[in-house]
Amino acid sequence: MDLKQYITIVEDWPKPGIKFKDITTLMDNGEAYKYATDQIVEYAREKKIDLVVGPEARGFIIGCPVAYSLGVGFAPVRKEGKLPRETVKVNYGLEYGKDILTIHKDAIKPGQRVLITDDLLATGGTIDATIQLVEELGGVVAGIAFLIELTYLDGRKKLDDYDILTLMQY
Ligand code: IMP
Repeated sequence: MDLKQYITIVEDWPKPGIKFKDITTLMDNGEAYKYATDQIVEYAREKKIDLVVGPEARGFIIGCPVAYSLGVGFAPVRKEGKLPRETVKVNYGLEYGKDILTIHKDAIKPGQRVLITDDLLATGGTIDATIQLVEELGGVVAGIAFLIELTYLDGRKKLDDYDILTLMQY
């Protein structure tokens, strides 16, 4: 299936000069959403994943159906102040801004094999921060899966110690 036909390119959003890749038109289509999810599940099966971890909000959209299909748990990574119990946190830089990401301190048991998911790999900052959180809790990053990779931003370079799957490249 050619997944790119389900992605809508939005010019100059959220800022002039950015060609935003809108995945909601892929999620809207049951067949395309299932196909994309199944591709990631197939990749994850070989990696013997114990837990899926994804950053808000689109990392949940990708990661939760994958976790369900694998029969493993999902741990959310959220912006500071959103998780109700004790967290660990990390500062990170975005394609357009700066922020803090957090995860519950007891979300990962040491040695657990983790699949990280997100919708899109741009500079790699969000996932680099997510990796730091997983590793701080003793998790092993066994794989990272995205729907989309913006290859011209070279995010892969930042993540070159890790195994990465991307379903579409721009
Ligand atoms: P990075 O941290 O620079 O790799 O940026 C990736 C993050 O920004 C992901 O969590 C995406 O959800 C978001 N993002 C950046 N550009 C786009 C886009 O064109 N479409 C959808 N999300 C984007």
